Amino acid sequence: MKQILVVGSLNMDTVIETPHMPKCGETITGKSVEQIPGGKGANQAYAVGKLGGKVVMLGAVGDDTKGQQLLDNLNAVNVDVSHVEKLKAVPTGQAYITVDSNGDNAIIIIAGANGKVTKKLIRENRELICGSDIIVMQLEIPLEVVQYVKELAVEEGKTIILDPAPARSDIPESLWNGIDFIKPNETEIGILTGTGMGDRKERICAARELIRKGVKNVIVTLGGEGCIHVTADSEEYFPAHKVKAVDTTAAGDCFTAAFALALSQGKNCREAISFGQKASAIAVTRKGAQTSIPTLEEIREYGG
Ligand code: ADP
Repeated sequence: MKQILVVGSLNMDTVIETPHMPKCGETITGKSVEQIPGGKGANQAYAVGKLGGKVVMLGAVGDDTKGQQLLDNLNAVNVDVSHVEKLKAVPTGQAYITVDSNGDNAIIIIAGANGKVTKKLIRENRELICGSDIIVMQLEIPLEVVQYVKELAVEEGKTIILDPAPARSDIPESLWNGIDFIKPNETEIGILTGTGMGDRKERICAARELIRKGVKNVIVTLGGEGCIHVTADSEEYFPAHKVKAVDTTAAGDCFTAAFALALSQGKNCREAISFGQKASAIAVTRKGAQTSIPTLEEIREYGG
């Protein structure tokens, strides 16, 4: 099995349930509070680990209790966290998520250590890039670091998967060249390319714009509708599995991780998409981010 390296964020999420959102200046009593491991990088590494893949995480946490909890949590599903940097005087990345009784949320993210991942850390761990086959990234660490990892990975001939979230409109064109797979959802493809979110045709046109800039494969995920795989000369629609969705948090993270895992096992792109769709269909029938990730056995039993 090939090795997957995830370079990205680790967050401790604090989820507060409240009857309604507090207004400016208001103090209210919440219903519950829970701390849950998150961060797109950690979610994806966790999912690869839980699915039985060979995975290493590279990123940073603070030298604090939350950071240690995040590392222990990844370690429990066999993610190699020995290269995650523990930074002094910087808190572990955090997200404060308030959910009201309608299920609407308001989120504040403190980048903390995620914002302090540097090119130096990457340089010091260059052998990790050389020793891995598939490099998975997102956009929750500094863009210049993502760009640097991409350049090294291209130089070393590695397969690069970018989950471009949170999407931003200021990405330099040079980032796209050499990326093997990019997986925006329907909102993200609009932000990345500055095109409106219309019908499927428009999304394919937007995907082709990224391909003209050097991306080899664009997989636009469409939530409960599935995804479209676009290359320079082909496009294919994959309908989603019909399931009763309970919580779609981290559906995309589960898809990206399962897709990467399947590639690491020698599957082709179509097979990997199909595997990603199965894993994420199961994930949306359960609550939570990392807690919703299925095991390989559960995916096998699901069949589909
Ligand atoms: P993101 O979480 O990045 O916004 P999406 O919501 O587009 O990603 O979902 C990623 C994938 O998860 C989809 O392509 C699909 O395979 C699966 N998925 C998401 N929502 C559902 C759903 N309601 N039913 C079945 N599969 C789903």
